[in-house]
Amino acid sequence: MTVHSVTLIRGDGIGPELAAVTRDVLEATGVRFAWDVVDAGENQMKTAGTPLPESVLASLRRNRVGIKAPITTPVGTGFRSVNVALRKELDLYACVRPCKSYAGVPVPHRHKDIDLVIVRENTEDLYAGIEFEHDREDTARLLELIREFRPGAAFGKGCGISIKPISVERSRRVVQYAFDYARRNGRRRVTAVHKANIMKFTDGLFLEVARQVAAENPGIEFNDRIVDNITMQLVQSPHDYDVLVLPNLYGDILSDLCASLVGGLGVAPGANVGTNGALFEAVHGSAPKYAGLDKVNPTAMILSGVLMLRHLGETEAAERLERAVARVLAEGRHVTYDLRPNKDSDGAVGTRAMGQAIIAALAT
Ligand code: NAD
Repeated sequence: MTVHSVTLIRGDGIGPELAAVTRDVLEATGVRFAWDVVDAGENQMKTAGTPLPESVLASLRRNRVGIKAPITTPVGTGFRSVNVALRKELDLYACVRPCKSYAGVPVPHRHKDIDLVIVRENTEDLYAGIEFEHDREDTARLLELIREFRPGAAFGKGCGISIKPISVERSRRVVQYAFDYARRNGRRRVTAVHKANIMKFTDGLFLEVARQVAAENPGIEFNDRIVDNITMQLVQSPHDYDVLVLPNLYGDILSDLCASLVGGLGVAPGANVGTNGALFEAVHGSAPKYAGLDKVNPTAMILSGVLMLRHLGETEAAERLERAVARVLAEGRHVTYDLRPNKDSDGAVGTRAMGQAIIAALAT
């Protein structure tokens, strides 16, 4: 029997408890793993002086498959995002986030059976980390240069600048990934999302490349939507959409919107995929206020494990585990607080108990 070598990153906040439960559940499928358990994030910053030790990257490069619990990113000041760094370092260029309804999960609307997939570009756009702080020498020089080339450009005093690079090559590969994903998974249509009416040389380029790639992929329908328009349409008629492909920032924002359409962050899984490997993780973050309380929903990370099983070719185990999760959600007896009708803790179970219920459902 194949033993899969997988890097398990335990993360911050609620991360370690989710990682432990997910590992137990994945092992209960009968698939065999050789886990390489590593740490990255806030605690590593304190103890090792870096939030992303080289050993974590080395482990992922060696195994080419990892599953990661959420990691805290300090807002404003402090270290840059480990999540973004991992995606860039390993060139995990496509972020795939399925948004699927499961019976029993409370949702704030009337739509049933939503089943769409977000494919988010993961390596450029405003996430490239090219930022200039206000009132600094380098920023002042950059502003001078921009004034020289764009004399009419409007700047306030003391402004910070973020650069938004969008390239032909990286747009092309992520859009092609979306078409390949659609074909592999029996989906009909790819929709490119952009703000090309305003950002003509970045989003406009993304749209132009998407149209070219669409022409090379007959058999899968293609259309495009402006990001503000589709945000409203996703709330009103989510069934009109199938596979969405988006630049980085819009993908980030619409992922949370689509997660809420199917029941919230507690049930939204994800994968970061590149030519050199894949890293699976929930859409949600480290929710520090719930750390150590055995309270939050493990479903999103467990469903990320389902995506990992499929990636590893363990299709039968993936189907079985997804069915077990679906059964526990539909029965509603062993679910965490966020899945209770009023999000209260009465009648809810903790993270570990929900994991145990899924393991029990796997056995029946
Ligand atoms: P968050 O996703 O951590 O939490 C927001 C809220 O969503 C929580 O307060 C909770 O009510 C709910 N929630 C999240 N996960 C849940 C779960 N499993 N079960 C039930 N409810 C859940 O978002 P945030 O508070 O904006 O971010 C906290 C930290 O996480 C930040 O430092 C942020 O940068 C980081 N973050 C990391 C990742 C990642 O590791 N991929 C992703 C997003 C945010």
